[in-house]
Amino acid sequence: MIVNIHDKKFETYISDAQIEDAVSRISMQIDQDYAGKRPLFLVVLNGSFLFAADLFRKLHVEAEICFIKLASYQGMKSSGKVTTAIGLDTPVKGRDVILIEDIIDTGKTLFEFIPELKERQPTSLRIASLLLKPDALKYDVKADYIGFSVPNDFLVGYGLDYDGLGRNFGEILKLMP
Ligand code: 5GP
Ligand code: MG
Repeated sequence: MIVNIHDKKFETYISDAQIEDAVSRISMQIDQDYAGKRPLFLVVLNGSFLFAADLFRKLHVEAEICFIKLASYQGMKSSGKVTTAIGLDTPVKGRDVILIEDIIDTGKTLFEFIPELKERQPTSLRIASLLLKPDALKYDVKADYIGFSVPNDFLVGYGLDYDGLGRNFGEILKLMP
């Protein structure tokens, strides 16, 4: 599929079926790793909302979910500044927290947020990210569950946007040269 979003063209990069397989694989890993526990999903809005919803509904372990909003992107480039637009209102002390991200790019967003989260003393903290750009990583952030490692291309779809649009596609598309 090729689509126009604003002034750019994007083409299919990861299909709906591939995404579903990856989400199923991660949900099975979480079911195993958290058997007998009750993890708290902490979802980083906006981009992660579809991944979080699909992953959450595949889980068999008891789990809770809450949402925060951090942002460091404007247009197609990281602005280099992380802002908290919606704060954390759910107590995480003593909880097994799984942070849910759409994509780890430079790692800055999580690198800055994780210490703040650890101050709140969760029992454990793991990170699940649908996508990881290993070549863009500049900060020491390690994801425990990863859907796909991707090259340094600009991606949209399945929650990811280009200036507000493109989040509704069921597949992931990349910017065409
Ligand atoms: P980081 O702080 O790791 O550099 O960037 C993380 C955030 O940047 C992600 O949660 C996502 O919102 C945004 N981001 C990074 N790469 C892309 C991309 O290829 N496409 C889109 N739409 N957003 C991205
Ligand atoms: Mg994000």
